[in-house]
Amino acid sequence: RTKEDGRNNFQVYEPAMNARTAQKLSLESALIQALKKKELEVFYQLQVDVENGKPFGVEALVRWNHPVDGVLSPAIFLTLAEEIGLLADMDEWVLNEACMQGKKWHDSGFNELIVSVNVSKDFFKRKDFIARIEKALTKSQLEPAYLCLEITEKTAILQAKDIREKLQSLKKQGIHVSLDDFGTGYSSLSQLNLFPIDTLKIDQSFVRGQASKANDAIVKFIIEMAKTLGVSVICEGVETEKQLELIRSEGCHRAQGFYFSKPVPSDDCEKMMREL
Ligand code: C2E
Ligand code: MG
Ligand code: MG
Ligand code: MG
Repeated sequence: RTKEDGRNNFQVYEPAMNARTAQKLSLESALIQALKKKELEVFYQLQVDVENGKPFGVEALVRWNHPVDGVLSPAIFLTLAEEIGLLADMDEWVLNEACMQGKKWHDSGFNELIVSVNVSKDFFKRKDFIARIEKALTKSQLEPAYLCLEITEKTAILQAKDIREKLQSLKKQGIHVSLDDFGTGYSSLSQLNLFPIDTLKIDQSFVRGQASKANDAIVKFIIEMAKTLGVSVICEGVETEKQLELIRSEGCHRAQGFYFSKPVPSDDCEKMMREL
């Protein structure tokens, strides 16, 4: 069994086209039910301050506890959710869960913890997007300064017209914004300057795996660029001590990756936070 098997273990067999379509259809209807049947769950992954090893935040990542297939990762069902127009609702559900969990953590002593939530293009482009964010904050009583919205670099570019107004309105309220998967979306420096963002999240593809001169140069370059723009940086995909040392030596102070923790249910995440 190789490493590749593990990553692709959902596609061991290549079913006939009609069988695959049927499979997809049944997964679709199962997904529509999943939200109602409370089969979705939010997992949390630590975001760590490289200097002292302490978590400063968590990222909320959705999981689907499928009754037959077990815990499914977003790679399997997010595209499907998008196709059937369910993605924005799903994001909003995750947002509400994460804000409530964040408030609980604040009340139990983790009072500086920042909760990051992924926002899809579908959710972001809703006309009442800002109102829905405000509603989640009001309902949960989480202070806006402890919510961070992660928008991928690709979404940001596609929504360029819409984005400034919405980001500025979020910023005015003290909500943080990160550009996720940064380095994969080809945004230009001039565009970046227009986005009022707080953090660049360096895409994991530049960090995990074997170190290479090219990846190393990209990581260095993004860290420099962030300094110039006056925004902070988080390196994603830190899996080993060696990778941690590398990004630290390049001046990155924040990291997220399997080296610190995998995404886990809220109870397990809390245990880890208490131990660190
Ligand atoms: P992302 O927002 O960039 O989240 C980080 C992903 O990288 C997570 O995958 C996490 O498990 C994985 N990861 C973190 N550290 C490491 C590491 O050291 N090594 C490796 N190999 N992987 C690492 P996950 O949870 O499968 O999510 C994948 C993507 O799905 C996310 O990427 C995000 O774009 C999307 N996603 C997850 N939850 C949501 C959600 O609630 N709403 C939306 N719109 N998208 C979501
Ligand atoms: Mg993210
Ligand atoms: Mg993302
Ligand atoms: Mg990412």
